[in-house]
Amino acid sequence: MADQGPQIEFFEVNAERLAHSLRIFGSAHRYYQGPGAFDKLGDICHAIAAKPAIIIDADVFALLGARLAATFGARAYIPLPFAGEVTVPAIEAMLARVRAEGADIIVGVGGGKALDAAKGVALRAGLSFVTVPTVASNDSPVSMGLALYDDHHRVVAIETHPRNPDAVVVDTDVIAGAPARFLLAGMGDAIAKKFEAEASVRDGGLSAHFGAPSRTAMYIADGCYRTIRAHGVAAMQAAGRGKTTVALDAVVEANILMAGLGFENAGLGLAHAMTRGLVRTPVVDQCLHGYHVAYGLLVQFEVEDRGDAFIDDVAAFYAEVGLPRSLKDLGLERLDDAVVQHIAANVTAAPKGAYLVVPVGPERIEQAMRKIEARYAGN
Ligand SMILES: [Zn+2]
Repeated sequence: MADQGPQIEFFEVNAERLAHSLRIFGSAHRYYQGPGAFDKLGDICHAIAAKPAIIIDADVFALLGARLAATFGARAYIPLPFAGEVTVPAIEAMLARVRAEGADIIVGVGGGKALDAAKGVALRAGLSFVTVPTVASNDSPVSMGLALYDDHHRVVAIETHPRNPDAVVVDTDVIAGAPARFLLAGMGDAIAKKFEAEASVRDGGLSAHFGAPSRTAMYIADGCYRTIRAHGVAAMQAAGRGKTTVALDAVVEANILMAGLGFENAGLGLAHAMTRGLVRTPVVDQCLHGYHVAYGLLVQFEVEDRGDAFIDDVAAFYAEVGLPRSLKDLGLERLDDAVVQHIAANVTAAPKGAYLVVPVGPERIEQAMRKIEARYAGN
């Protein structure tokens, strides 16, 4: 692995400006990770609440329902199996149940949808929430944000709970049993955080808490990258086998805890902005979020003129673990100008987000995409 240099120096270049800005660091109240963590859920919930409502992915409920019953034992809990999209009507239906039953905390168990549904219900009920991710495919479990969809899986709104989760409970044996592509996507989402944090510091971006980035956040994002580079290949060999290994455990922590704390406290950059165009592009839109971010990071590197040797080093790691290096890897057989223009236009057309700064225009992004495609797809 190439030495990417100490993260802190990047911060110090901008230290004068940052020292005179308000910096805010927020996080989940408590984080649990390890094999069998799921079986502590009853104790964890009842230490902070009396009647938890458990919004659980219906497929996960079929697999873990008996363990859920066992961890709560005789103590109160309200299981709410959830399937379908995270829409406002779906959230309101669960909210009515939560109010009728007098639940005092909302727990989301499953993939991104169940967790977002739990956040959406908790937000409307004025309650705290707990997340129990059963895949490590993105950084949302420790975050306060959630996406609302329509029935056709189109994002209609991004909402923010005023608090981060009261607890995040990550059972690494459960995650090790999920299909490997989820862990891979999580690495794609997480590996970008260091470089997006650097971009945020450089470009004057804000964190999700509307504060300037902190040194703490920069160190976390840097550690996230180092952990994935050190353990990513071995973690992929363990993924899908249902047993925790050192490498898988390390990558799960990077994908969920480090990535979540990193982006919420430092901000995002072009790698994530690229997803605005990719989700609006047929075929490519079918890929998991983390695949989009991984590709977006290569485009960000090219826009930043980091040089071929630097980009080749990261791209070689992508090839080893199976992350996409080109639009071709994302499913587009041929590069055509209209698609490149469409993606770049969507990346830069969105309003400048508080914690997502795009420092260049569409022409520079198009140029970078063509370079990446020529280099890694031979297009
Ligand atoms: Zn992401």
